[in-house]
Amino acid sequence: MSADAEYEYDLFVIGAGSGGVRAARMAAAAGARVAVAEDRYLGGTCVNVGCVPKKLYSYAAHFHDSFDDAIGYGWQLPGPASLDWATLRDNKTSEIKRLNGIYQRLLEGAGVTLFNARAKLSGPHSVDLATEEGSTQVSARQILLATGGWPWTPDFPGSEYALNSNQIFDLDRFPERFLVLGGGYIAVEFASIFNGLGSESHLIYRNELFLKAFDQEVREFTRDEMAKKGVKLHFGTNIKRIEPHGAALNVYLTTGELLEVDAVLAATGRKANTQGLGLETLGIELDENGKIPVNERYETRVPSILALGDLTDGPELTPVALAEAMQLVDHHFNHTEPMPLDYTTIPTAVFCHPNIGTVGLSEEAAREKFASIRIYRTDFKPMKHTLSGSTERMLMKLIVDDATDVVVGAHMVGEEAGELIQGIAIAVRAGLTKNDFDRTVGIHPTVAEEFVTMRTLSRY
Ligand code: NDP
Repeated sequence: MSADAEYEYDLFVIGAGSGGVRAARMAAAAGARVAVAEDRYLGGTCVNVGCVPKKLYSYAAHFHDSFDDAIGYGWQLPGPASLDWATLRDNKTSEIKRLNGIYQRLLEGAGVTLFNARAKLSGPHSVDLATEEGSTQVSARQILLATGGWPWTPDFPGSEYALNSNQIFDLDRFPERFLVLGGGYIAVEFASIFNGLGSESHLIYRNELFLKAFDQEVREFTRDEMAKKGVKLHFGTNIKRIEPHGAALNVYLTTGELLEVDAVLAATGRKANTQGLGLETLGIELDENGKIPVNERYETRVPSILALGDLTDGPELTPVALAEAMQLVDHHFNHTEPMPLDYTTIPTAVFCHPNIGTVGLSEEAAREKFASIRIYRTDFKPMKHTLSGSTERMLMKLIVDDATDVVVGAHMVGEEAGELIQGIAIAVRAGLTKNDFDRTVGIHPTVAEEFVTMRTLSRY
């Protein structure tokens, strides 16, 4: 029997999220016989309960400021704007259904077999598929685990009243008073979103300042800008218990404060979605963070079983899972030796209001790493807000290794920071110097030109 005929598939992917779908399509394009099992929705967290609906809601929330800003530019609005939550929610759902369809057509178009089933490893080359009709077994030369992560909520009295990020998008009623627990991406984004949509919005964070691993100045600037927009920030406290109070929820904080709200979101991190995968059958153990250890070829300790994305160590970001999928396919199906992924210059945006865009090292991390660094930073009122009357400010910052002049970090807080930092990330990844930035001609009048016109050293 030939190697190909030995198994029904060359690659069997468990999980049709960003990483799984990309790997399946690319492997199929390379000539592999590929199948995917998914028992939930196509597109995974990002498309269904993550990046996509979050960004749509963030756009919706930004209109709040835009209506106010427009008045200074002479626009006369018919009256106070109000939000119809059901329209936003249902339009979002329609868009996601459209994207689910696109994912299905992409897979089918690539010749990938799709199983609407729950899959479990039953051997190094076999998977059990459970559907409502019963269970079957399929064989594959390689099996890719791409089941992503799942929101995690700490245990405290009444924690069952807290929603997680899978549940927050489809609320029946708009929460006039909203509370989010946590100080990471999801917490700051949702505090901003519901604030912008018109809720009284509270963020509860256990330590003194949110966004732990980010540049300290970025964290402080974001705190001040979010507070100016009306988000109620409660630092150095945690939820002690939640009790229902009629249709509302009473949230008791460890500082003794009591907040009455209509919805609570726990944005307290995610865990790798490994339950029920059958890892124990094959002796695949998890690391101390609950992730699946893999080598640079994305192989687990059982070489025919691969894993990527949020299941494995590294930033829990869709573009990282996509990049890993491309690498994996290059290794195993295109038989090339791709350059290892550079995890040190992965740009990221946080869609709080205003947005954060960042690439490379924070000032604090750069101080640890280099003998001497130079900081160039500016904060200013963007030209847009000269007429709008808004007091929103913008922060831009470059961190330079003094010995080599290389820009090792770039940070921004302000409108469309993610859009802007993507281009800067190319320069930082390429290892360009501050002199290269200085020799680049600016585009006037933009806020982005500040990144090439910051000539005065702010500090060493
Ligand atoms: P994060 O890991 O970013 O943040 C979790 C937060 O919860 C931290 O502030 C943490 O506090 C806090 N926390 C943890 N345990 C407890 C506890 N027992 N009680 C109180 N607070 C607690 O997770 P998120 O849920 O915000 O997001 C998950 C991941 O999804 C992100 O890390 C990111 O990779 C990804 N994501 C990316 C987005 C983007 O690219 N824009 C958007 C949304 C999510 P502490 O800081 O003290 O540890």
